[in-house]
Amino acid sequence: MPELPEVETVRRSLHESTCDRQIISSEILLERTIAYPHNPEEFNLGLKGKRILSWHRRGKYLLAELSNDSWLGVHLRMTGKLLWCDRSLPIHTHTRIRIYFANQQELRFNDQRTFGQMWLVPSGINPEEIISGVQKLGMEPFDPNFNYEYLQNKLRKSDRPIKNSLLDQTVIAGIGNIYADESLFLSGIHPQTKSNQLTKSQLESLVQAIRRVLSDGITHGGTTFSDFVDIGGDKGNYIHSAWVFRRTGQPCKVCSGVIARIKLGGRSTHFCPKCQPIS
Ligand SMILES: [Zn+2]
Repeated sequence: MPELPEVETVRRSLHESTCDRQIISSEILLERTIAYPHNPEEFNLGLKGKRILSWHRRGKYLLAELSNDSWLGVHLRMTGKLLWCDRSLPIHTHTRIRIYFANQQELRFNDQRTFGQMWLVPSGINPEEIISGVQKLGMEPFDPNFNYEYLQNKLRKSDRPIKNSLLDQTVIAGIGNIYADESLFLSGIHPQTKSNQLTKSQLESLVQAIRRVLSDGITHGGTTFSDFVDIGGDKGNYIHSAWVFRRTGQPCKVCSGVIARIKLGGRSTHFCPKCQPIS
């Protein structure tokens, strides 16, 4: 699943390609991709003639601010991909939504697993009121108020493994399996450590590590894992700099110990038992 760096990479590209452009019309190939409005025809009517003013990101959600004070929300989920392409590009069997612009250009939503969703938030309504997932999101990792006190407060009643807490979007917005493993490695924390047993200094280093791995991910244009591509079809290359993710059995880049893998909350978790001892 695309995580914060991948979604941010897409946001930046969308911002460059589609800002100040007018939507001519749209076409829905799979109705259930439209989470709101419930009548898909209203989705098309709402987009028609609108200009895209800017693209924002909140957690893993993309939010386009449209003229007339309305919003287009997108969540890529497992396999959703937005492509900025020429309208003549043959459609794929997984093409779900097509949004048409002038000069034969198109924003196309392909999604193999069909968990991806789009919302058209009507004029004058806050996106949080329609997109309930946005309402529940925890703090953005790059928010200046994201610090050890915030984490301590969020985790103080939780004895679940810290890895599970990092994946919880109501705790921190935007982290998924890859960057959770990477940030725990960089902060030297064993993924099974109970969330409410982390010390102040562990939480402080976790905050720094989260920001570092996410920044690195954005710098590399996202990851190649989960077959992520940018809107032009380009792959990211974070894989080459991963510390532990999908490196089971390989030597740790810091201590040369062997990277281990366990399952936590149903997700594969990669870590170095030497660098991340059980505290
Ligand atoms: Zn190590």
